[in-house]
Amino acid sequence: MSSSLTAVEQGRETGQKTVPGPILLLGAPGVGKGTQAKELVNLWGIPQISTGDLLRANVAQGTQLGRVAKEIMGRGELVPDSLVDEMVALRLQAKDTANGYILDGFPRTLGQAGWLDGRLAAQAQTQGGGLPVIAVSIHVDYNQLLRRITGRRNCPVCQTIYNVNGKPPKRDGFCDVEGAALVQRADDTEEVFKERMRAYVALTAPVVEHYRALGRFAEVDGDRPIGAIATGIVAAVERLRK
Ligand code: AMP
Repeated sequence: MSSSLTAVEQGRETGQKTVPGPILLLGAPGVGKGTQAKELVNLWGIPQISTGDLLRANVAQGTQLGRVAKEIMGRGELVPDSLVDEMVALRLQAKDTANGYILDGFPRTLGQAGWLDGRLAAQAQTQGGGLPVIAVSIHVDYNQLLRRITGRRNCPVCQTIYNVNGKPPKRDGFCDVEGAALVQRADDTEEVFKERMRAYVALTAPVVEHYRALGRFAEVDGDRPIGAIATGIVAAVERLRK
């Protein structure tokens, strides 16, 4: 096995059997939580649960939750805890979460963190044994995030994420895989980004401190190539699971 392989690639080659358990990916908008979650899904075969994606699916389907969430998301504010908690509770009932899952973008408030901690503690008591949560926060500085967010484009078919400022598609405006015209999220504008950052600093930064204080926590530098960040996350999870 070549030593130039990243931890993720090495894991794939060796069929590495870390049971990851519940992993929380935390960090400001645009740090790459979604991209990293997909790397970890490929390695560990556990699902990515993105509350942003679940909410956007509700908006697209016009559900009652989607109708409430649409305007709030459009302003860059947070959807009320009770609605998001309920949506996550439903998703966590699925069998594919048995060996773990990657929560991407949740919890985003201390209220959501308290709800999740309580749920996992209750589950450990009634069903026994569940692994404790590990929180990984990805850090990228403000100006870099602004560039990333305003340059971000998604394929509406396969959800591949591109960036006109750093990871452009081969053909301008079209997905390399599907050939579909790329789209920009309605909340990926500079104005909404600023509001999302305000919400992050006021409401989500304390969640990072909450998990830091609990000890099962790592912070990784998100201003590196995708593979290097994934290697950092995998190494942190393996260290914290020992
Ligand atoms: P994201 O795709 O994670 O950047 O989320 C997009 C938007 O969905 C956020 O700006 C919020 O409006 C909403 N959202 C996503 N996750 C949560 C959450 N855990 N709590 C409240 N609102 C959320």
